[in-house]
Amino acid sequence: MKHPANDPEATFAFAEVALQQIKALKQSAHPRNYEVWYHYASGRHPTVNQLINEMMETNGALSQSDVDGIYDKYFSPTRQADRVDSATSQFMAQVDMVMNMIGQASGAATRHSESLATMTDKLGKVTGGDGLRAIVESLAKTAKNMEESNRALETNLKNSKQEITELHANLEAVRHESLTDPLTALANRKCFDGVFANAIAQANASTEHLSLLLCDIDHFKTFNDTFGHLIGDQVLRLVALSLKDNVKGADLAARYGGEEFAVILPDTSLRQATTVAEHIRRAVMGRELMKRSTGENLGRVTMSIGVATLHPGNTSATLIERADTCLYAANRNGRNRVICEVDPEVAPLTKTSAA
Ligand code: GH3
Ligand code: MG
Ligand code: MG
Repeated sequence: MKHPANDPEATFAFAEVALQQIKALKQSAHPRNYEVWYHYASGRHPTVNQLINEMMETNGALSQSDVDGIYDKYFSPTRQADRVDSATSQFMAQVDMVMNMIGQASGAATRHSESLATMTDKLGKVTGGDGLRAIVESLAKTAKNMEESNRALETNLKNSKQEITELHANLEAVRHESLTDPLTALANRKCFDGVFANAIAQANASTEHLSLLLCDIDHFKTFNDTFGHLIGDQVLRLVALSLKDNVKGADLAARYGGEEFAVILPDTSLRQATTVAEHIRRAVMGRELMKRSTGENLGRVTMSIGVATLHPGNTSATLIERADTCLYAANRNGRNRVICEVDPEVAPLTKTSAA
């Protein structure tokens, strides 16, 4: 399958737009600027495009520091690692603080018990009523101090717990973001790879079925060329919805590449998987696409799907390869169809590839 990053025509077009933007804004063509404007041209990060468009509207242009800010926030390869590092060091600071508080509290408790010991000592030597009163007063004062320091400790611990809970939620958000495709909100390729490897290991260790769908939107380049990349992005989101609507439970729908999607179907036979694929194909075809701003009818997109199931001892690579062969057969046989690995259309292809 051809990845959009390897689609020479598209990449040259993005590069040209990126360089034009850099020239128009009189910025230098160093890689950070180029990367931001290349992504802008590709339209693959709608949030970034929206942000840039808003900045352009408000300020008329983007300054170097605006571009730097966008790069750091969205494209810097270390951005997620930075956020995790910062959360980790905040977490460590919280742990240090709690340790400190416990240290202080235990110091206070020691002082309290020392003071009790001194009082007990004095009590043994007391002769008059005044001496006794002084000791009782002193005891009451120590008890009050102790109570105050306990209360402070409790408040500090409560605050720390709250901070740690928030840090935990932040880390979860970073983790989720690192596994999600920003355009479609489906699982991204990294998430797919991890879940698929686990599913294969689990199915190989049991007698459970495991099936895989590879899906590719038909003639999507033509669609993009006709209606523009932004509308293409909207269609990718709609297709993602059709996938989501037709999977459930432990199934995982992921964006595999540009206009390619993968669905992992644990505990699902080849026949059942073919039915799921057919539902997805119909759902995609069933959506009439409309340009919201003008009401223009954009027609429909269709999808070709390859279906394969795990055989004993298969690796993730062999299963992906078989599903890909089926997808290729679906493509060659007219697109907008589901082909599974036992269909006759696949046989000639596997014979050729084995030869
Ligand atoms: P086929 O029917 O053989 O699959 O042809 P195709 O045009 O769908 O496939 P091809 O691989 O030639 O082109 C895929 C196109 O998908 C290229 C690119 O314009 C588009 N594309 C990939 N990723 C994105 C994206 O994130 N947004 C948009 N709008 N288009 C994308
Ligand atoms: Mg493709
Ligand atoms: Mg395609």
